[in-house]
Amino acid sequence: MESVLPKENLVIGVIGAGAMGRGIAQVAATGGMTVLLTDTRPEAVADAVKSIEKALARLTEKGTIDQAAMDRALGRIKPAQSVEQFAECRLVIEAIIERLDVKQALLAQLESIVSDDCIIASNTSSLSITTIASKCRHPGRVAGFHFFNPVPAMKLVEVIDGLQTRPDVGDALMDVGRRMGREPVRIKDAPGFLVNQVGRAYTLEAAHLVSEGIATFADVDAVMRETVGFRMGPFELLDLVGLDVNHPATDAIYRQFYHEPRYRPSVLMQSRLDAGMLGRKTKRGFYDYS
Ligand code: NAD
Repeated sequence: MESVLPKENLVIGVIGAGAMGRGIAQVAATGGMTVLLTDTRPEAVADAVKSIEKALARLTEKGTIDQAAMDRALGRIKPAQSVEQFAECRLVIEAIIERLDVKQALLAQLESIVSDDCIIASNTSSLSITTIASKCRHPGRVAGFHFFNPVPAMKLVEVIDGLQTRPDVGDALMDVGRRMGREPVRIKDAPGFLVNQVGRAYTLEAAHLVSEGIATFADVDAVMRETVGFRMGPFELLDLVGLDVNHPATDAIYRQFYHEPRYRPSVLMQSRLDAGMLGRKTKRGFYDYS
């Protein structure tokens, strides 16, 4: 089916220039799109542009892209002072703070700026796409576009159809995702989407085993890595992601599934979170990194 977005000269907007927004801006620019990038903190945009420059320079040194491609990509990233400058965008991706009321207010503002055929995508990791879209004038144009951190290194992107998302909107995001060099997967809106839901099984089952005294966390990790063939054991993964990120996500999924026991958060993680043992970022989690 013909994409509702133009193949050439696609102008997209990215709102939020934090960890995710800057990564999305980078892969969009290397994918040939013009990217307007904005944030309520102007210094975040300046910082994002610098970090994208550094990331692209590293890719040039490694020979992944040549200098001319790097210059072209950088030239396509346009800092914007606010979303008021987004009128020409055919696609806008929001990667702002994870709060439903703030995202809904932003989308309402955005709808008064962009044209009716502009697609609005949310990079939310734990909020329902259907709920985010529910306050929009045109909820059919809203879909989830869930990237993983760090975006340039993580090929997967989940394209999420909310209950009211038009099928051609998801189709267009699948196409744009590929043009960004990603490997998109199309799914329906559900708590945790695909990866974060499956990931709960991996980490929570392991935590239950350890809480019940059946095995040590180091043994679980060693078995999953060495014998089962996962790249990382569940506790190594938790230390990498950080309990401050993982635990609230588990909690949100548990609540959204009406306290389904399969997703019950683990005390083992809560106690480490309370102790500030978040993982690699605090030099101590399940393992010691000092
Ligand atoms: P972040 O804190 O690094 O960046 C968020 C940016 O949004 C900040 O620079 C902030 O100033 C800006 N911002 C906040 N409210 C704004 C508004 N109303 N308008 C414009 N800018 C605003 O956060 P992040 O880690 O990049 O996460 C952003 C989104 O992506 C969240 O919805 C999060 O759930 C989702 N997400 C995060 C990850 C991750 O691993 N960090 C992975 C997938 C999805």
